[in-house]
Amino acid sequence: MSPMDKLVVVAIGGNSLIDDPANKTVAAQYAACRKTVTHLVPLLQRGHRLLIVHGNGPQVGFILRRAELARHELHMVPLDSCVADTQGAIGYNLQMAFQNELQRSGLHRSVATIVTQVEVASDDPSWQNPSKPIGSFMTEEDARRHAQKDGWIVHEDAGRGWRRVVPSPKPHSVVEIEAIRTLLQNDAVIIAAGGGGIPVYIDQTGEMRGAEAVIDKDHAASLLAVSLRAEHFIISTAVDRVAIHYNTPREQWLDELSIADAERFLADGHFAPGSMKPKVEAMLAYIKSAGGQGVITDPQHLSAAIRGEAGTRFQAAAQ
Ligand code: ADP
Ligand code: MG
Repeated sequence: MSPMDKLVVVAIGGNSLIDDPANKTVAAQYAACRKTVTHLVPLLQRGHRLLIVHGNGPQVGFILRRAELARHELHMVPLDSCVADTQGAIGYNLQMAFQNELQRSGLHRSVATIVTQVEVASDDPSWQNPSKPIGSFMTEEDARRHAQKDGWIVHEDAGRGWRRVVPSPKPHSVVEIEAIRTLLQNDAVIIAAGGGGIPVYIDQTGEMRGAEAVIDKDHAASLLAVSLRAEHFIISTAVDRVAIHYNTPREQWLDELSIADAERFLADGHFAPGSMKPKVEAMLAYIKSAGGQGVITDPQHLSAAIRGEAGTRFQAAAQ
C-alpha cells in the first residue's frame, strides 16, 4: 500500500462544534464549524487532500436526552444509531461550511460525508469493563429502572449523580475504507468516522451488527491516518500545544515530543485520561506505523502547524 500523496487527516475536537457553552443550538454549531473551516481551506489552497474526523459527545448527549424526555411516547435510540444520526447532521454542517468557504476562496472541490462503520473486536477487554460515561446525570431510581428495562450499566459518578457507562473498544478497521480512499484520490474533501465511527462487530453467525459502545475519535482518526498512510496527521483541539505538569505552577508547553519522551510522560500521568491521553496515544500509534508528520494544535494554528511552525510536533526519533 503506497502512501497517499499530500493527504492530511485532521481530527477536530468539540471546540470546533460548540465554541460558546451558553449557546449550543444547531445554528451556533454551524457558526463554530464555519470558523474552523476557514482554517482548513488554506490547506487545500496549498494542494493538500483533506480527511476530517469530528467529535460528537455533546450531540449524542442531546439525542439521548430527547429520547429520555419523550420516553412515554417514543422508543429509545440505540447508541450506534445515535452516532449515525450525528455523523449525518454534523457532516451536513461541515459540508455546507466547506462549500461556502471554498466558493469564497474561488476553489472547486467536491465535499462529502461518509456514514462510517468501524469494526471492533467482539472480545475487546472493554466489554467486560464499560467505563465511558455518556448522556445526562440521573437519579438512582431512574438509573435502576434503565438498568432493568434497557440493560444499561449504570455507575454512581463521584457524588454528582448516576450515569450510564458504555464500553470504548479499540477500533480495528474502517468498513468503508476503500470508498474513502477512492474519493480522496479524486481530490474530494471527505468527512468520515465522525464520533469515532459507528461501532460494529461480527456476530456468531458472521453478520455485522451495531454495538452499544463508543469509539474514541482520536483513535479512529489515527487508524484512518495509518490505513491511508497519510503524510500528515493533525489533532486540532482547544489548546495550541501539549503541556507537561499541565495546570500546575511547573506547567511547560512543548514544541516537540519524541516517541520516547511521550511514552515516559504518558506513564508518569502528564496527560489526562479522556482528554489529552488518547490524543498522545493516537499520535504515537500513527508516528510508529505510518512515520508521517504528527502535530497536536488548535484550529487557529493549523496552517502554521503543517509548515512545522506551530503546535506540538511528534518526532519519530530523538533530536
Ligand atoms: P477534544 O474535544 O478536542 O477531544 P478534549 O477536551 O477531549 O478535547 O481534550 C483537550 C483538552 O485536554 C484540553 O483542552 C486541555 O484542557 C486538556 N488537557 C489535559 N491534559 C493536558 C496536557 N497535558 N496538555 C494540554 N492539555 C491537556
Ligand atoms: Mg476528546
